[in-house]
Amino acid sequence: MKTFALTVLGLLLMLTAIPLHPISAASRSIVDATATYTYERMTKDIGTLAATYPDIITYRSIGKTKYGRDIWAVGLGKGTATIFINGSHHAREWLTTTLNMTMIEQYAAAYTANRTYEGYPARTTLDKTTIWFVPMVNPDGVTLQQFGLSAFPASVHTALIRMNGGSTNFKRWKANPQGIDPNRQYDSYWATLEANIAYPFWRNHKGTAPVQTPENQALVRFTREIDPEIAVSYHSAGRIIYWSFHTLPANLPRDKRLANTFSNLTGYRLMPQRSDSSGGGYTDWFITTFNRPAFTPEIGIKPGETNLPVSAFPEEWRRNKKIGLWLAQEGYSLWNKRHPNPVQNISVQIDGQPPAQQTKAFMQKGVNYVAYKPLLEQYGFTAFWDQSTRTVTATSSASGTVIFTLNQAYAQVNGKTITLSGKPLLIDGMIYVPARLISQATGAALVVDSRTGQIQFTSPEPVAPVVPPTESQQPPEATTAPVDPATVEGAEPSTVENATYGQ
Ligand SMILES: [Zn+2]
Repeated sequence: MKTFALTVLGLLLMLTAIPLHPISAASRSIVDATATYTYERMTKDIGTLAATYPDIITYRSIGKTKYGRDIWAVGLGKGTATIFINGSHHAREWLTTTLNMTMIEQYAAAYTANRTYEGYPARTTLDKTTIWFVPMVNPDGVTLQQFGLSAFPASVHTALIRMNGGSTNFKRWKANPQGIDPNRQYDSYWATLEANIAYPFWRNHKGTAPVQTPENQALVRFTREIDPEIAVSYHSAGRIIYWSFHTLPANLPRDKRLANTFSNLTGYRLMPQRSDSSGGGYTDWFITTFNRPAFTPEIGIKPGETNLPVSAFPEEWRRNKKIGLWLAQEGYSLWNKRHPNPVQNISVQIDGQPPAQQTKAFMQKGVNYVAYKPLLEQYGFTAFWDQSTRTVTATSSASGTVIFTLNQAYAQVNGKTITLSGKPLLIDGMIYVPARLISQATGAALVVDSRTGQIQFTSPEPVAPVVPPTESQQPPEATTAPVDPATVEGAEPSTVENATYGQ
């Protein structure tokens, strides 16, 4: 009944709020920040957001909890640079999930409408940087905090009550339902963590080994995979920001500058620089593992040992609404520093001529990258981009099909999987692939001038002028004799490229 009453209250608040805002029905929000934000609501909203903004939002499960709930990750953006924002490590801090979800929706809407958001150009920012969110790290814990014992099987009620100090009121709960605090689980000064409670409890029990919970394992695995430049782990409460933890002296000016801006934007107070012996938190681990900046903002004024009320949301949102886009920009410049000056004006030629469309190229870690599209189109391919899988499928009646995925070091050429010398990259809205892949897809020989870097493709037969690939204009032999992938795979181009680059 309590839940029902809350839902009715939420609906009433929503209904009465709508006429106050001059927004059209089409722009009415998907994420209801006035509701008790549950795991079920979040799961439904993620699906709706991805369906509403398919060009910019992707999502997937990065793990399952002991009670079978998915730990959802939501990707917002198209950039190769990434940052990471998460919420609800602690069960009672689920207003941070509302904040993550509101950010996703507001930014996706601004991107799609191609407008600035609070002064930040959403489209150019998110074309360069992908913001990954895990809005609810601890969905089992959030569910226990919101619904109490009724959401859990009777067989575990006794254990849950014991871990809750004998109480059946779970409003103060922070841990997961195994009584392990997910923000005291990360492998950073875990062994010497202070104020540990030695047994499963509603707060502060660090577990018996670092990264033993499915929630923490999912976060660690996912963080390593997306390799973010900056991480933000939202908590509540206190309107403070933790920003350092055994930070290397060389990184302090960089991180302090960002922390100052974070503080200025939110009005949250910076905590003193930390090198004490506590640890085990997500951003403690991120800072000490990656030597990159990370922040733990505590939203809201302390409500006591419980969740923040939903009425606290508008003010905390006002303070944080720029954070994601601001950090996406900062993340891109950090990414750029790690990948210096990637795109240069290296000359690309096909049979001694510049391609019909301007084709950018660069070299990174010994791999020659070219913008794939102008080249494959000149060779008669038509390319399709699938945003949900971040995959390009290019087909030509003469050469067959090549399929590759951003940040995956393999491709398929006519059904055969080949390993790439470098991962396809999205930079400033353009996708680059190793030049060798163009050679493998088209059968053109590849020579790279070791002195000038010039990239030269020599067609197996002279390329016809660029024309729409209609049936009547294709040479008959081209439609009936697709390039044998085995020949392409073992062909000279790779050898030539290696030989010239060995110098
Ligand atoms: Zn917390």
